[in-house]
Amino acid sequence: MSETVLTGGCQCGAVRYALDQLPENVHVCHCRMCQKAVGGPFAVICPVLKPAFRVTRGTISYFMSSDVGRRGFCARCGTPLTFDYPDGDDIGVLVGTLDEPDRAPPENQYGNESRVAWFAGLTKVPGDHPTYANNPEMLRRISSTNHQHPDHDTETWPPAG
Ligand SMILES: [Zn+2]
Ligand SMILES: [Zn+2]
Repeated sequence: MSETVLTGGCQCGAVRYALDQLPENVHVCHCRMCQKAVGGPFAVICPVLKPAFRVTRGTISYFMSSDVGRRGFCARCGTPLTFDYPDGDDIGVLVGTLDEPDRAPPENQYGNESRVAWFAGLTKVPGDHPTYANNPEMLRRISSTNHQHPDHDTETWPPAG
């Protein structure tokens, strides 16, 4: 009997997943492959045992980033979702795709040979602004035409309207 403890999915909602255990050894990966795969300075990977990972909507597409590792993503909206070794015991979901990213804080870092030089100073970069705090009209236009799937499972997809 499985019991969902975390859920997540892609930006458009075509792919949704559930985790039946909390991730273990959540880690930041600065390696060059992860930088490219997520389009960011690093990936935050949340591993769970494969039987505890269930796709609950849609289908994950894969890019083999090497002969032994693959990157899962939504083919409809392009959101990177997972990293795993097909022969391995666990699968890592990417923290930003969780509905509650705060529940999977990193415990370790890898790939430091590729870590961007500005990483250490990131929290000291000036600016602590909410989204479009200086442009309420743009914020209204974005919010009123938001196509991002909400941070919870939904009964139907695609949403009406
Ligand atoms: Zn999608
Ligand atoms: Zn990596």
